[in-house]
Amino acid sequence: MRVLVVEDDPDLSRQLVTALTDAGYAVDSATDGEEGYFLGETEPYDVVVLDVGLPKMDGISVLEQWRRANRNMPVIILTARDRWSDKVAGMDAGADDYVAKPFHMEELLARIRAQVRRSAGHARAEIECGPLRLDTKTARITLDGQPVRLTSHEYRLLAYLMHHNGRVVSRTELVEHLYDQDFDRDSNTIEVFIGRLRKKIPPEMIKTVRGLGYRLSKEGDDA
Ligand code: CA
Repeated sequence: MRVLVVEDDPDLSRQLVTALTDAGYAVDSATDGEEGYFLGETEPYDVVVLDVGLPKMDGISVLEQWRRANRNMPVIILTARDRWSDKVAGMDAGADDYVAKPFHMEELLARIRAQVRRSAGHARAEIECGPLRLDTKTARITLDGQPVRLTSHEYRLLAYLMHHNGRVVSRTELVEHLYDQDFDRDSNTIEVFIGRLRKKIPPEMIKTVRGLGYRLSKEGDDA
């Protein structure tokens, strides 16, 4: 899952990027409203963390312009604790949730997980597909109750496929959602990771749909 962080406070920005990277997300960051707007307009993100008070363009305007341009990714705004009017303006501008500063990183991470799940159509914290179970809270995947040992790249890929199980996901979509903008985006690497995943879970669960991409589905389920 790919996250954009738009925050001008360098310390907080660094903390956010570190915490999100540690939690397994691919993270891009911007330190002013214009750069943030541009990234959110041109890159596909699974969720955005957007500070309201930003140089060059404030967070509410950034959000309004994204929504006007039909950019519908989940957005969580960061507001100052005493500025209730920012929360109202942010929700009216199309924010999906807000967190007031100062906040506990765990709370923000939980809200991010909830947004990512809900936008993929899952209300619960655990996502199942046949014998596979993803616990989004602990970022662990089990197969028939046994933990599957995955590298961080393998985890990101399988977690993304599980969020979107039953649907064909193209290689481009995977590259765009699994890597930050500085990563060398060679779609052949996806094929390599798919090959590795097929050695760790029942291989028939990941189908290659010729010319379109991959689909994760329950074993034997050809739908
Ligand atoms: Ca700020």
